[in-house]
Amino acid sequence: MELLKKSLILVVLVIAAAGSIAYGFYTSQERNLLKGKVVLLEQALKDSNDSLTKVQADLSQLSTELLAEREKSTAYARQADEIGFTVDRLTKLAQTDPQLLQKYSKVYFLNENYNPIELTTIDNKYLNNKDKPLLIHDRVWPFLKEMLDAAQRDNLPLQVISAYRSFGTQALVKSGYKTTYGAGTANQFSADQGYSEHQLGTTIDVTTPTIGATFSGFQKSPTYTWLQNNAYKYGFVLSYPPNNSYYVFEPWHWRFVGLDLALRLHNENKNFYDLDQREINTYLINIFNGTAGVVQ
Ligand SMILES: [Zn+2]
Repeated sequence: MELLKKSLILVVLVIAAAGSIAYGFYTSQERNLLKGKVVLLEQALKDSNDSLTKVQADLSQLSTELLAEREKSTAYARQADEIGFTVDRLTKLAQTDPQLLQKYSKVYFLNENYNPIELTTIDNKYLNNKDKPLLIHDRVWPFLKEMLDAAQRDNLPLQVISAYRSFGTQALVKSGYKTTYGAGTANQFSADQGYSEHQLGTTIDVTTPTIGATFSGFQKSPTYTWLQNNAYKYGFVLSYPPNNSYYVFEPWHWRFVGLDLALRLHNENKNFYDLDQREINTYLINIFNGTAGVVQ
């Protein structure tokens, strides 16, 4: 009996030990399994972190590229604008008659076939001789009209006595002078055929109703003083001032050179023929710009 009890206890102990070993084995298996899962999860987490970082890096790279592209396209747009601007300038320059700001002399003269692009009739009320219609460059007319109106407002009426003269007319005028004064004198005060600024259509001779065609005393008239103080506001300059080295003094002869150049000559107290031709040429593109009577 005693033996049976002992055997039973032993069996129970053996079973208990085996159970405990089995349980221990089971739990450690379980733990290992869990540990493995954790490792896997950690790996997965790390992987997704990595790919998140990569996605972020890609995004930042993309936005950098996008920015660069945007800057590039802005630069292209600016360049296109600049090219457009240059093309506009060149087109405008090509359409502006280069003769309009040319200095004329015995060395450089206007071709006898030259004609202004478009001429317009000067309103009869501004003429000294109402029966002799006169023509002026179409684009100069608005400036001239403003000047004539301004003089009238100041009670110093100006009358146009000569404007556009074709090569043929100029030749006639000169031969007329030649007959009256002889060739030597004529060369001094009537430009040689083709040299005349009048052939440009941008130049006028003016007088007053009382002085008329003789121009006698014109240089001492308040009208001449008015022109000296105001003509530049309308883009006109005196071509042949007193004591110039090109020609005799012609106080009645005014040439349109545009507001910018006329203003500069006025401010610097210079004459058109004193400036370098290359310098004058820079004013050509804007010769018809601005509003007559408004000094910028
Ligand atoms: Zn003249």
